Amino acid sequence: MIQVPYFAFRDWPEGIAQQLEQAVVQTMGGNQFILGPEVNNFEKAFAKFTGTEYAIGVGNGYDALVTCLKALGIGPGDEVILPANTFIATANAVVQTGAKPILAEPDKQTYNLTAATAGKHITPNTKAIIAVHLYGQTCQMDELQELCKRYDLKLIEDAAQAHGATYKNQQAGSFGDAAAFSFYPTKNLGALGDGGAIVTSDPDVAAYSYSYRNYGQKEKYHNQTIGINSRLDTLQAAALTVKLHHLPTQNAERQRLAEVYLTELQTINELILPVTAAHCSHVYHIFNIRCNRRDELQRYLQQQGIQTVIHYPVPIHLQPAYSYLNYKPGNLPVTEELASTSLSLPLFPGMTEVEQEYIIKSVKDFFR
Ligand SMILES: *Cc1c(COP(=O)(O)O)cnc(C)c1O
Repeated sequence: MIQVPYFAFRDWPEGIAQQLEQAVVQTMGGNQFILGPEVNNFEKAFAKFTGTEYAIGVGNGYDALVTCLKALGIGPGDEVILPANTFIATANAVVQTGAKPILAEPDKQTYNLTAATAGKHITPNTKAIIAVHLYGQTCQMDELQELCKRYDLKLIEDAAQAHGATYKNQQAGSFGDAAAFSFYPTKNLGALGDGGAIVTSDPDVAAYSYSYRNYGQKEKYHNQTIGINSRLDTLQAAALTVKLHHLPTQNAERQRLAEVYLTELQTINELILPVTAAHCSHVYHIFNIRCNRRDELQRYLQQQGIQTVIHYPVPIHLQPAYSYLNYKPGNLPVTEELASTSLSLPLFPGMTEVEQEYIIKSVKDFFR
């Protein structure tokens, strides 16, 4: 028996660890720890990568979401539609602005918010829709853009799981009025600690974000608005520039590993495997499988030394923290079904063939 972690940092492609060490040591020598030149260098590179005009580095993905919302004028009295099956941060960010989160069902096949599911919740108070590119697959952005245009809504992308994913060959993060990325270490593009960014091609959103992340000042000690302290750390920016170079290779490796799973597991009738929709690319931040005997399968894999994770066991509308929204079990059946049947298998750059074969064999053994 071998032990397979759900996620591990491996030196893959080889040499990345040494490049990171060099970048961090060199940046330390520069002694510009807050908003040093490395931050601007990374911001430029990341804007270019996503095909946007501006990237603004912040402390984490959550702050990136809050900043997007506030930059677009979302606040008390507003309603913001988001998918009910996302990570809690998406909803918390809406609450942070004083607006009300409105939870919509995802599509049954892709698990992503669609124009059809979001459109049902539009009221005169709706101000924005947050399209979450869940698990690494982009939403169907044409329809969402049209919907937002028709109802004069802001479109925000939560691209925290989708660095490098595309829709019609266009990068995640470049479709909305603004987009939020997280560089949490295990994300497809991860820092050596917390990090995040807003990307946008709107100069007003960019100007607000640069100021908001730094106490609301444009010039030192002169404050136009009441901002926060959420600056992308200089050392993290240096590390992210190194890792951004490797993102396409690492995403391709994730896709290769996913293809192996898809080919090998397709014969198991009891399993529902991830589906990639037309025009979308999937960068497999998460490789999610579904089955009615999920808990049993997870326990079995655990006994075989294989770590798995459930994304996410309790949907937002059933979290005690959100009881004030008065949702009841059964209100969002697709979301609830996903929560009770989803299981994420290990998938990360540098995972070995031996590890993946062992996982596949163990899953097959369970269903035999
Ligand atoms: C990770 C994540 C976030 C939050 O990012 P942090 O950097 O951890 O604050 C937001 N939304 C989604 C969908 C995420 O996966």
